[in-house]
Amino acid sequence: MSLEMLRREIETVTWRVLEAVASRARLVQTVAAVKTGQNLPRRDAAREEDLLRAAEECAPSPLSGRAARAVTRAVIDACLDAVDGSGMREMLVSRSGGRAVAAVGIGEGLPRAWIAGPCSVESVAQVDAVAGSLAALGVNHLRGGAFKPRTSPYDFQGRGLAALLELSRAARTRGMWSVSEATGESVVDEVADSVDVIQIGARNCQSYDLLRAVAIAAAARGRSVMLKRGPGTTIAEWISAAEYIANAGCEHILLCERGIRTFEPSTRYTLDLSAVAVARVMTRLPIVVDVSHPAGRRDLLVPLAAAAYATGADAVMVEVHPDPDLALSDSAQQVTPEAFAALKQEVDARVPWRT
Ligand code: PEP
Ligand code: MN
Repeated sequence: MSLEMLRREIETVTWRVLEAVASRARLVQTVAAVKTGQNLPRRDAAREEDLLRAAEECAPSPLSGRAARAVTRAVIDACLDAVDGSGMREMLVSRSGGRAVAAVGIGEGLPRAWIAGPCSVESVAQVDAVAGSLAALGVNHLRGGAFKPRTSPYDFQGRGLAALLELSRAARTRGMWSVSEATGESVVDEVADSVDVIQIGARNCQSYDLLRAVAIAAAARGRSVMLKRGPGTTIAEWISAAEYIANAGCEHILLCERGIRTFEPSTRYTLDLSAVAVARVMTRLPIVVDVSHPAGRRDLLVPLAAAAYATGADAVMVEVHPDPDLALSDSAQQVTPEAFAALKQEVDARVPWRT
């Protein structure tokens, strides 16, 4: 055979391979529709691994086992992408179910949400003062740290369970939802018993055992989980971490962008609004933007919050303290309830809520 003919034969075979992959993708689409109808998980990692191992062990000559495995992996991924359409293979949190599930009054089709409250719950008087002011402004979500992840072990570490109970009471008596962080597996049950939204802090974004434990505790009590993006976590890694939570049985997940580490020192972190846009395309999950921690200073909160809503955030989180200069943590970025009221009014005026 001439070289020309051999090349044409290679092209024909390549097209046959692609057509075979396409017919496999159509089957996968049918399977996905059946599974959705039966409310079954869309992806089965064990089955995928069986297939990959079989391909490796029975690789047709002259392909190596490694090559057969890699080709099979690529075929599986291409077929999954055909189901999802977003190029995302993490099926549980993917966009395919339509955007976006409502959890604790945050998400598509719901009014604009604000999550506000002190960095740390310091006393009953402090959290009550903030909660009262916020409730009067129509804020429905009260945040407050009880177990605090602090960079230095010599800094204020939070008041633990007492703070959790104070936060939860301050919220409940005003008809608000409460949000607080579980910093480790040992406190998951305490946090899940007390608050409506269990926060996974930025430092723990990829602590998979904690994600699983929080998801299980949340699912058992009908709580929601808010997953903060780590300062050095890619968007894909953050979404994959959310998949761990979904995979462990928790449906009500909120993603929270809170700034990433860059070379820029004028803010504490760099608020990555691309993450909001990308997460909206790739997932169906409601998206929160924490503007206080990336700013690290109170004078930038209005433009950052306005930009967050304009980019598609479902909620913005702001740290509010009755006397920020005396705050035991994150003093420079917290604002008074009065300043928060002005901020909220300004942002609401600048960026009308989507209808
Ligand atoms: C917080 O929200 O209290 C907090 C500690 O934030 P992060 O995990 O984003 O640093
Ligand atoms: Mn803080």
